[in-house]
Amino acid sequence: MQTIDDLDVAGRRVLVRTDFNVPLETLADGTRHITDDGRIQAALPTIQALRDRGARVILVAHLGRPKDGPSSELSLAPVAARLSELLGTTVVLATDVSRDGAAHAVGAMHDGDVVLLENVRFDARETSKDPAVRGELARELAALADVFVSDGFGVVHREQASVTDVARLLPHAAGKLVLAEALVFSKVLTDPDRPYVVILGGSKVSDKLGVITNLLTKVDRLIVGGGMCFTFLAAMGYNVGSSLLEVDQIETVKGLIAQATELEVELILPVDLVVATAFSADAQHKIVAADKIQDGWMGLDIGPNSRLLFAERIADARTVVWNGPMGVFEMAPYAEGTRAVATAITQVNGLTVVGGGDSAAAVRLLGIDESGFSHISTGGGASLELLEGRVLPGLAVLEG
Ligand code: ADP
Ligand code: MG
Repeated sequence: MQTIDDLDVAGRRVLVRTDFNVPLETLADGTRHITDDGRIQAALPTIQALRDRGARVILVAHLGRPKDGPSSELSLAPVAARLSELLGTTVVLATDVSRDGAAHAVGAMHDGDVVLLENVRFDARETSKDPAVRGELARELAALADVFVSDGFGVVHREQASVTDVARLLPHAAGKLVLAEALVFSKVLTDPDRPYVVILGGSKVSDKLGVITNLLTKVDRLIVGGGMCFTFLAAMGYNVGSSLLEVDQIETVKGLIAQATELEVELILPVDLVVATAFSADAQHKIVAADKIQDGWMGLDIGPNSRLLFAERIADARTVVWNGPMGVFEMAPYAEGTRAVATAITQVNGLTVVGGGDSAAAVRLLGIDESGFSHISTGGGASLELLEGRVLPGLAVLEG
């Protein structure tokens, strides 16, 4: 994969695909406010490196899922404003994606300037299933620039005009963020130091089946918590009360448990749980053994003995991949399992990787020191697809 260091960028127009799909809230006065600028921060090293080398940086990104073309609600204006603050220079927002507004803004650039094109999904061709249609938009984007840099890790699993098609039309390279993400996932997928421990949680087994299947052949230990553990407990014959359960996955999970035994992978499940009478922070709740869940109770977090067990099985790891919270961390009474596991991971002496949007959000919400992890992925969907062992089109295109 070429990196930006391999590109000649001085005085040239560099089109950079970034992931600026940030969460927004609308304030009482109608203005929109970015509630978490993590994705903008993550793009700064590449933008700054290109500017330092005298490039003219043209950023292309999407926000949300616009249905009928341009709308003020999904304009990238708040992102341009925040970027201007962070970079200490005015970032001009082009009034359109690839037409006169874009050409005008780019035509007025000097070396070191930054222009942000308007939300690329305002143009329906961006996400078209038809390569010829996407190709038209890609050609318009390519005409604005001399080289292309892919730095939106959150979109590299998509076959889209500004992700893959445009890369085929211009000299291209991976930006610093995409490069760092690709290297970390390549390491944990092909050459992990051992013991190698994977911790999976979150809501559904069915969302993560591909990940479990792919990683089972590589890991030494698999720890399962979160909503998905109840399908494992049910597969072992336990009653799970009204906990989250995917009945249609029980047979599949029985197969995974058998496979883990065969592969001599240590499968670690909760030994106790925090159960509640309703999916609510105010509901009555208590701690029970994993095989003693009564009808009418639902498991919303792993229990204190499970926290100790999980932390103990994480402590000597040399590689850790964590995807999916251990409980309903959004509600304080059910956040301790996720806190304990996250904290245990920060104490590991080795490569520690957090994948999954909610897991990264949990780290921030619970106030856990982000510098305690080797890598917190910026791409939920992309990181899951990599862990499933898939080839991502937005990465493959950079290899050519
Ligand atoms: P990620 O985005 O990190 O991949 P997921 O999207 O799979 O994670 O799952 C996150 C969600 O799982 C959280 O909103 C959390 O509340 C929920 N969750 C965790 N444990 C449970 C549980 N025991 N019951 C219901 N939901 C749960
Ligand atoms: Mg999620």
